[in-house]
Amino acid sequence: MKRKEFLKACSLFGLSLPFQKLIVAEEWIKESATPFKGKVLVIGAGAAGLAATYYLKQRGITADLLEASDTIGGRMKVDRNFTDFPLPLGAEWLESKPTVFDTLVNDEEEKIALQLVADEPDYKFINYSWLQFFEDYILPSIHSQITFQQQVKSIDYSEAKIKVNTQDRIWEADYLILAVPLKVLQANMIQFKPLLPSKKRRLIQEAKIWDGFKAFVKFSKGFYEKDFEFKLQDDQSGQKFIYDATKGQNSKDFIIGVLAMGKAAKAYQGLSEDGLLQKLLTDLDQKFDQQASQHYSAHLVQDWQKEPFIQSGYLSDHADWRKVKQLQASVDDRIFFAGGAFTDGEDWVSVHTAAFSAKQAVDAIVG
Ligand SMILES: Cc1cc2nc3c(=O)[nH]c(=O)nc-3n(C[C@H](O)[C@H](O)[C@H](O)COP(=O)(O)OP(=O)(O)OC[C@H]3O[C@@H](n4cnc5c(N)ncnc54)[C@H](O)[C@@H]3O)c2cc1C
Repeated sequence: MKRKEFLKACSLFGLSLPFQKLIVAEEWIKESATPFKGKVLVIGAGAAGLAATYYLKQRGITADLLEASDTIGGRMKVDRNFTDFPLPLGAEWLESKPTVFDTLVNDEEEKIALQLVADEPDYKFINYSWLQFFEDYILPSIHSQITFQQQVKSIDYSEAKIKVNTQDRIWEADYLILAVPLKVLQANMIQFKPLLPSKKRRLIQEAKIWDGFKAFVKFSKGFYEKDFEFKLQDDQSGQKFIYDATKGQNSKDFIIGVLAMGKAAKAYQGLSEDGLLQKLLTDLDQKFDQQASQHYSAHLVQDWQKEPFIQSGYLSDHADWRKVKQLQASVDDRIFFAGGAFTDGEDWVSVHTAAFSAKQAVDAIVG
């Protein structure tokens, strides 16, 4: 019996709180002495799935991690060719304090000091990225546990063992940590047997997930104020920012970043790559006195809707936190959810909270 279940049982039998605490303490000691026996399977090697596998490993549990694509990182994707620093195509800012790295790594022997530049209210990595952080600190101990090109297509939890089907294999587990994007569930890309509970299905379908893209446009000269950032839109319908993407990087390049989500991205969707570039340049020309087209030299677009196993940007920043909290709830105490949209409802759509949600799933499973 897990700690949570034990407490529930105590209240059912009317045992007083001090008495509960006494028994829990004893039960707790007994539990720590009993090694966890179940098999855990983690699905999705983005921030949440990697973190879940890592935290399980720290608890002595070697879980298999299945990833549909042929690489790790998901929405931490980075381009290493476009310019002279790693260009973040998804997560770019540290939306927390730098001490969060030590919390994430959760190892007293590691003291992590990364080079960051303040970008109020956040931080940016200098010549580094979220992906690199995971490659340096999380991946090494779990690398051999990842199987790539394993797209989970169905999950059968109708019997004691959970059966997980990919295109070419059946995996069995006692517990699952599902760390796939919410959109993958919304689009029914994974079939469940039995169906997920109706409340869970309703919450998944009602969640407002924004599509969107990031674009980087390189110029032959800097015709704009260094380190500028304009918030063109940030409301219920979507977000749009343009900014000096080289901030803090010591780069020799001049690059403007554009992030558009939700309604703000709609005007660009459906355009050809050339059409999208022309629209971006027209927008930037208006903002910067017709200079953008004149000094254009290259561009790079990451359309998140087109990523086959992600298919979206992120859960709306304006989602109702109570519903976000409910989204995280486990099913049958065997299927646990972790990731950008499955946080505890305090914060979401960031890398560190995706990893924290994985820690919560691991704690719930292992006790
Ligand atoms: C444009 C953009 C900008 C962002 N900016 C920031 C930022 O500045 N700072 C910040 O902290 N966060 C930012 N975020 C949010 C952050 O990137 C995400 O919250 C976080 O990376 C999500 O991690 P995840 O593990 O939940 O999901 P993902 O990173 O999406 O990983 C999910 C993984 O599951 C795999 N998968 C999907 N389906 C299956 C299947 N059926 N079987 C097996 N594997 C599957 C996918 O291939 C993927 O690898 C941004 C996101 C975007 C899109």
